[in-house]
Amino acid sequence: MPSAFSPSSHVFYLLKKTKSLLTIMPTSERPKEKSDSKQYLYSFSGGIAEGDASMKNLLGGKGANLAEMANIGLPVPPGFTISTEVCTHYYDHQRTYPENLFEKGIPEALCKIEDALGKKFGDPENPLLVSVRSGARASMPGMMDTILNLGLNEKTVDGLARKSGNPRFAWDCYRRFVQMYGDVVLDLKPTDKKQIDPFEEILEAKKHERQIQLDTEFTVEDLQDIVSEYKAAILKKTGRTFPEDPHEQLMGAIGAVFNSWNNERAIVYRKLNHIPGYWGTACNVQAMVFGNMGEDCGTGVAFTRDAATGDNIFYGEFLMNAQGEDVVAGTRTPLKIEQLKAENPGIYDQLEEIRSILEKHYRDMMDIEFTIENNKLFMLQCRVGKRTGFAAVKIAVEMFNEGLIDEKEALMRIEPEQLNQLLRPVFNMKEKQAAIAEGRLLATGLNAGPGAATGKIYFNAVDAHDASKRGEPVILVRIETSPEDIKGMAVSEGILTERGGMTSHAALVARQMGKVCVAGCGALSIDYQKGEMRVNGKDIVLCEGDYLSIDGSTGEVIAGKVATKNSEIIEVLIDKTLLPEEAATWNIYKQLMEWADKYRKLSIRTNADQPDQAETAIMFGAEGIGLCRTEHMFFGGERIDAMREMILADDVEGRKKALEKLLPYQREDFYGLFKAMGSRPVTIRLLDPPLHEFLPHTDSEIEILAGKMNKSFAQVKERISDLHEFNPMLGLRGCRLGILHPEITVMQVRAIIEAACKLKQEGAEVVPEIMVPLVCTVKELEITSEIIHKTARSVFAEQGIGVSYLVGTMIEVPRAAITSDQIATAADFFSYGTNDLTQMGLGMSRDDSGQFLPAYQQQDIFSRNPFESIDKDGVGKLMSISAKDGRSVKPDLKLGICGEHGGDPATVEFCHQTGLNYVSCSPFRVPIARLAAARAALKN
Ligand code: ADP
Ligand code: MG
Ligand code: MG
Repeated sequence: MPSAFSPSSHVFYLLKKTKSLLTIMPTSERPKEKSDSKQYLYSFSGGIAEGDASMKNLLGGKGANLAEMANIGLPVPPGFTISTEVCTHYYDHQRTYPENLFEKGIPEALCKIEDALGKKFGDPENPLLVSVRSGARASMPGMMDTILNLGLNEKTVDGLARKSGNPRFAWDCYRRFVQMYGDVVLDLKPTDKKQIDPFEEILEAKKHERQIQLDTEFTVEDLQDIVSEYKAAILKKTGRTFPEDPHEQLMGAIGAVFNSWNNERAIVYRKLNHIPGYWGTACNVQAMVFGNMGEDCGTGVAFTRDAATGDNIFYGEFLMNAQGEDVVAGTRTPLKIEQLKAENPGIYDQLEEIRSILEKHYRDMMDIEFTIENNKLFMLQCRVGKRTGFAAVKIAVEMFNEGLIDEKEALMRIEPEQLNQLLRPVFNMKEKQAAIAEGRLLATGLNAGPGAATGKIYFNAVDAHDASKRGEPVILVRIETSPEDIKGMAVSEGILTERGGMTSHAALVARQMGKVCVAGCGALSIDYQKGEMRVNGKDIVLCEGDYLSIDGSTGEVIAGKVATKNSEIIEVLIDKTLLPEEAATWNIYKQLMEWADKYRKLSIRTNADQPDQAETAIMFGAEGIGLCRTEHMFFGGERIDAMREMILADDVEGRKKALEKLLPYQREDFYGLFKAMGSRPVTIRLLDPPLHEFLPHTDSEIEILAGKMNKSFAQVKERISDLHEFNPMLGLRGCRLGILHPEITVMQVRAIIEAACKLKQEGAEVVPEIMVPLVCTVKELEITSEIIHKTARSVFAEQGIGVSYLVGTMIEVPRAAITSDQIATAADFFSYGTNDLTQMGLGMSRDDSGQFLPAYQQQDIFSRNPFESIDKDGVGKLMSISAKDGRSVKPDLKLGICGEHGGDPATVEFCHQTGLNYVSCSPFRVPIARLAAARAALKN
């Protein structure tokens, strides 16, 4: 192998240069080369690039798409990408770079930019300025650092002033550069909101001194003063003078970009989004284009469709005479893209054209960043746009209708979790209208993240976090958000900001998290110090802890609580208060679900033990019940008394008497459930929990129970303490109960079979699946099965008819998993009870894991909570061994999963790969599981 792929060989050359070969052989699978022969730098320039969009692992998303845009002829300022492998090398080698990178590679790559533009890096006459931009494989908006206008110093600033004929512009760039460099490379940016940014302080002081409001009002002299004050502040704070040598500046900036991969906010973001730390970031060095050179210049961001609603309209914001982050920073409120149409139709038309080129090329909704320099448009970034669940579903279905994508791709475009948003509550219209009539509508901001949220106001992430720990619903209210706020955003019901547009940090992050968000509500004035919020022109003050409601679909901000109600889909499906033809979202949802059902291989069942839950699940598309927990049936009214009597009985006779009282209740429950499910399969688990869970705890409750049972308080109390267990999770529970007290199993099976017989007499065919819990040896299952069959036979004899039924077992004890070849001989089916299997497989109590799992996740011992998403390497392996061994003795053994994991998309994919027949999850997760199962089938 190595010889065929040696760096000098023809094949290797082709691999690097030929796009078609690259797509056949993704970068990740490319043969390992000797490190000194690796290509670390990839240049791009109008019309041609060394990379392309398929090379995200190596070039990061930003670098790969800059290359792609250059390749398809879009106007991209020239530059080069330093690959993620350099970042990996940097961290593997005590923060040093591959040999010759700065001596040879980078100077050569810079030369290409210089040649393309006829400027020179560091040249006092006609200086080339560059931006140094981070860019990982997955986009991490605002998490890492970017430095603009690099290459300026006391000499080049004059050159730029002369060449542009605009000294004010040159000094504005220099001012920005020193500030960014100081913040990012020299680490002067405060990490804590309470500290003051030295640069902001200087800037504000100057504005105050000059009695002006905006940066744009500074004169050249002002800017020169500010730059020297900045430099003095840097010297004072760091003991170092500001670097004059552009090459030194460049090296510092590249190091800062790589360092930013491991800054705290980037790490928090990666955790939240399951991005592995070893990926590293790429670094893009690109010639600057200037949006701050005058009124025919500007900068903006846009989405090719509406990212909140999915509507097929161009959605964007821009600012004239502005640079870089001015649009998203929220310091000046940006203008809507339609206004550009009025102000500068030429540029607007170019943008519209690029919008359509990009959508056709990428066949997806794109998020773009652009800059206008002297009426000429430049593309600085494009990536697949983040969107709400609503938008994701709408765009996927509409792009299918437009012929851009096929139905398989439409399915792959929607993250199963996003469907949640379509099912999420909206405000109860009547209550909302009443609130508005009462004058509680405070203001209207931008509808940045749809849905309805109501909760208590908190003004910072820490307080929001604490409040949510206390169980309070939280609305996080901020002047604007920044990456430090994401922890607080994650725990909030909704987010409200005073400043910032549809593409502000708050809006982007909220949409990605699926949070309700109202952004840029300028009528508010928020005072962090006082912990209060006023509304301009109104005599209203809201304080921390007050209730507030926000409508992320309309932008309305309403004082107090407003009740929420079901979404459109729920109204059509379950409440039946809306007709399907009146519900646009419903129709899109329906289309999507039809596609999902067409491709998925897994059946989807639900966990339900009440007929109404079962009905809901069927509306969502459940094809059966994978887990009916019978213990839930013992709690209502007189049932619990009979149950307690059964548990506390002194002998078998006493127990049988009590069980006789329970039988009709159980039979009725099963009848109702079978009826609701029609001919769909229903898996019923025999009694599982330790018996003392049903017993009273307080003396007064025991007193009452003793009275009902005609026993003394002392007798009952003693019997209860006899039943006490030190470790009930591993005690007398599951099939052990029925082995000690077979009469319990007899009663349950009788109820199941009698209910099935009754339905059969009514002309309905049901096949109950009786499931034995907590089996660890085949013998336990054999003994229990014997009781089941005997009971069924006697019911058939009594009733003069028979029904078919299955007997199977939960696989939830590790011993059962690894002796599945034995257990399968006595089972018609297995159902993986992954809650217990995880608990016992990991030796971690689910109920106590909250104490240590967060720390474990922090240290990457588990990247996901193993009680939410299956631990593939451990518990998953137990499952695969069991599935293989079980089917080795019984090839048609039916396999399913019924733990909480059944509704988790990653687990669904794992179950597909392991060859399970079905997954079972809670009713509201059924649509998510359907989509996840289809995606798993398409992926594998
Ligand atoms: P982020 O990853 O946070 O979006 P970027 O690297 O895209 O950071 O940089 C932020 C902004 O800086 C860009 O949106 C763009 O406005 C500006 N910018 C970056 N590079 C250049 C450049 N070469 N010329 C002009 N502006 C630039
Ligand atoms: Mg940025
Ligand atoms: Mg950007």
